Parts: sequence; structure tokens; C-alpha cells
Amino acid sequence: MKTLRDYIKEAEEKKIAIGHFNISDSEGFRAVVEAAKSLNVPVIIGVSEGERDFIGLQEIVALVLTARENGLPVFINADHTYSVEKAKVAIDAGVDSVIIDGANKSFEENVAMAKEVVGYAKGKEVLVEAELGFIGQSSKMLDTVPEGVTETNPEDAKLFIEQTGIDLFAPAVGNVHGMVKSGEPKLNIELIKRIREVAGIPLVLHGASGNSADEIREAVDASISIIHINTELRIAYKEGIEEGLRSGEIAPYKFLALGVEEMKKVVIEKLKLFNKII
Ligand SMILES: [Zn+2]
Repeated sequence: MKTLRDYIKEAEEKKIAIGHFNISDSEGFRAVVEAAKSLNVPVIIGVSEGERDFIGLQEIVALVLTARENGLPVFINADHTYSVEKAKVAIDAGVDSVIIDGANKSFEENVAMAKEVVGYAKGKEVLVEAELGFIGQSSKMLDTVPEGVTETNPEDAKLFIEQTGIDLFAPAVGNVHGMVKSGEPKLNIELIKRIREVAGIPLVLHGASGNSADEIREAVDASISIIHINTELRIAYKEGIEEGLRSGEIAPYKFLALGVEEMKKVVIEKLKLFNKII
């Protein structure tokens, strides 16, 4: 089977993006995998530190490997990992990619953290992603744009990538984690293009919940290779389960199934958009 690296390369050539969807449990996993299977596209399962603590790191890796054994191109990313130690644990557990998140630290500290993880990953089939520029940290509904949000300077990005040797780069280009009630900020498409030119490696767009379909299309055309969605999935999952609970069902496989269905709808819609499936 092709590796995640192969699929990213293919996405770049085809000018499409691979969907990255966060999950917390086996129901969320099912929703994402069934959605990707129905469209016959590769997909990345994302687990943040909190999410992987809940489902279990080894457990989610096992679920992903089982899906792959069944012929499905499903990959697992250890999303926002705030310490080198935890990144190493994730690599040892067999993830396909890991994000070392030092975006809130100084440039030098961020470089040092990413460099150490890249060194640890050497010789292993795992991609290392890092980010420069701050886009907030929570996947929920926000009243306003989080404080301290910045945009990545292309020259800094170039330097950062050269110094760290990372495989994937997550820039701050008007994207924010979570969804902003007062209006989602616009993506800076020109900045994406400029960064991609100097970066020389694939770009990952985080915090894409709440951005319009048109903006996402432009971002993909500007050569974004992976797109992260979390908040919109959480909302759909919760609303589905609430409906299931209101029905009076007590069997979890019945009331949770509605959550899976709602989440699946969002994943299918996003995957069609990212993969340019009409
Ligand atoms: Zn993110």
C-alpha cells in the first residue's frame, strides 16, 4: 500500500487536498472511515493530545492499521503535540505523522523542538509537521478571533523549514482554530502562494472549520495539501447524539448511530470539496 507521503505527493500533482478529521472515539473513527470509503479517497484521522488520551493512542493506531489491512488508505496523525517527549511516544506507537507544536514558543525554541523530533523520526516511516505563527488552540465556538493570532512571514517560514528539516509545514494564513461566531476571518490566499513557493514542502491548513467552500477551493488551488477539520465535526456529532437521546433509545449503538450519521455527512461534504469530486 502507498504511504501517506505517496498520497500527499499525488494530491500535489492532482491539485487536491487530503482531508484530516479529528476524532475522540471509535464512533468518530467509523464516521470518517465510512465517509472516505464511500468516496474512495485517502483520509487522515487526527488525534490531539486530549483526544488520544481519551481513545487511547495504541487503540487508535490499531484501528487505523486494521482499516489499512482491509485495503483502506486511512492514516493517523498525532495532532498538536506540545512536547518532544509526547511526540516520541506517538512515533513509537506507529503514527504516520506527528505535529510538534511550538507555535506559541520563540522562533529558536520552536526550531529546537521540531529539529529534535525530526532527528528522532529519521529512518522511520513517519512525517514530521511543525507550524510557525499562532492561530489559537481550541476547537470550539469562539465569540471573537483568539488573542495573539498572527500571520506567517514567508522569509521566516523558509528559514524555519531549512533549519528544522520538517516534512510538512502549517502556516498561519488567516486561519484560526475553532469557529468565530462574529465572522470567520478570511484566508490570505496570496500569502499561501508565497509561502508555498519558498517552503519547498507541502502545506497543511489548520482550523478550516467555518471557512467557505470558495475560500477552501482557492486555498487548494494555491497548493494546500492537507486540510484540518474538527469543530464542525464536533458540533454535528453532538447534535446527532442529542437527537438520539431525545428519541428515548437506551441502546448506545442506536442513539450514538445518529451522531455517526451527522458527522459522516459533514466529512463527505468536506472530502468532496477537498478532492474536487462533483
Ligand atoms: Zn490544528
